[in-house]
Amino acid sequence: MKIVVLTGAGISAESGVPTFRDADGLWEGHRVEEVATPEAYDMAPSTVHRFYDARRSALLMVQPNAAHHALARLEEALGDDLLVVTQNIDDLHERAGSRRVLHMHGELLSALCRACDGRVRWDSDLVDLPPCPGCGVTELRPDVVWFGEIPYGMDRISVELARADLFVSIGNSGAVYPAAGFVQQALRYGARTLELNLEPSDGTPWFHEARHGRASELVPHWVEELLGTAQSAS
Ligand SMILES: [Zn+2]
Repeated sequence: MKIVVLTGAGISAESGVPTFRDADGLWEGHRVEEVATPEAYDMAPSTVHRFYDARRSALLMVQPNAAHHALARLEEALGDDLLVVTQNIDDLHERAGSRRVLHMHGELLSALCRACDGRVRWDSDLVDLPPCPGCGVTELRPDVVWFGEIPYGMDRISVELARADLFVSIGNSGAVYPAAGFVQQALRYGARTLELNLEPSDGTPWFHEARHGRASELVPHWVEELLGTAQSAS
């Protein structure tokens, strides 16, 4: 059975990954849309760097939770038959042990060079404009997909959705496109669809089944259920 799992902010929230938005939805007085666009980066690169530098260092303070670990166990059992597509830019899936992870919105721990298009693993600050290890030019930007940019891996995701027998959405609001459209794509190709989310989402009507509660409880339970079934069927 081929499974595509889409994860979103809800799975990382339980690890305490800060959202860097205050009660007004602002970061240091800026709307997040104002520090997460190519235009913002062109106009005020140091502001944008400080925003992502703060998020990158905050990542070191959090740990994967039971939901991340359960997905890693599922990958151990299914291998290439499981793909985790994540909208999250943290590395909590990888730290839990997942290897087949597609970061459609990029990664905090990666820097992208605007001069040579090279990517490099990056775990320190970018605000001081360090030179690119590849070409030496000081044009490193966060390797994250900003508003107005095309998410990574869309062609591969379409292929995987077409092949999937089961599509599972974990911790997604169902309001952010293109990810919010994946459930409809999977349905068109005949997949069964399951939502695991804290509360009903905008996308809930599209799922064959929806379970609502904490990801750290729902995901391990679902994985055990699936692996139990797989064993008794063999
Ligand atoms: Zn470079």
